Amino acid sequence: MADLLRQGSTLTDLACPACSSPLFKLKSGDLWCAKCEKKVLVVKEGEEAARLTSTMALESIETTLLTKVQELQEKIKNTSNAEELQKLGATLSGLLENIEKIRKVKQA
Ligand SMILES: [Zn+2]
Repeated sequence: MADLLRQGSTLTDLACPACSSPLFKLKSGDLWCAKCEKKVLVVKEGEEAARLTSTMALESIETTLLTKVQELQEKIKNTSNAEELQKLGATLSGLLENIEKIRKVKQA
């Protein structure tokens, strides 16, 4: 611990999520737990929760859309009416576009 301080690291008021020891901030800006002897990544709780919630919302929308795609697929298979087929096709492509958008947002 003394070595860390001598190297220019500073003691922070953050605690290690694994062992609750106070964390050091290294000169590089990384947080270090002297007890676990490893870098610690601290994420602000609010940010993490918000990110998680929006990801979960997107997951559930995606699942719903995928279910609809399957339903449409069945209808397309069973119809021989050209007009209906066209309508179903348009709806399907709209759904796929939305799924694509959600996947892009999730990756961002
Ligand atoms: Zn620790």
